[in-house]
Amino acid sequence: MTIYLDAEIDLAIRGESEKGYPYEICGFMLGALQGGDRLITKILPIENARESEAKRNRFEIAPTDFLRAEKLSIAEKLDLLGIYHSHPDHPAYPSQFDLEQALPFYSYAIASVIKGKADTINAFTLSEDRLRFEFQGVTIWR
Ligand SMILES: [Zn+2]
Repeated sequence: MTIYLDAEIDLAIRGESEKGYPYEICGFMLGALQGGDRLITKILPIENARESEAKRNRFEIAPTDFLRAEKLSIAEKLDLLGIYHSHPDHPAYPSQFDLEQALPFYSYAIASVIKGKADTINAFTLSEDRLRFEFQGVTIWR
């Protein structure tokens, strides 16, 4: 399974990640399912629900944000396909915390931000047994 990021979306996620540095930022990814692949065409940046120091290495999404994202996806006739977040000064691989928070089906895109500059973006999805993440290819399209 591949996740296709519209070039503008790729830039937007990188921009958000750099703007939020040294804190983690996060948001929803919306788009369309195409065969086994996912095309991301819209993002919804959200407030990191965690306060102060924890924002550096944790992100948390409030239930009201999920509701907002659901409503937006219906209004735009898009599917809610995943969540992106940044890893300030850490590699673009999920943490144990990320695994514990992960929901089935969603794609989790992680943008590494090194010294304030956006670096690699990787994407993952929960395995069927929900015990680990599986790597998803990321392709920038257009
Ligand atoms: Zn993380």
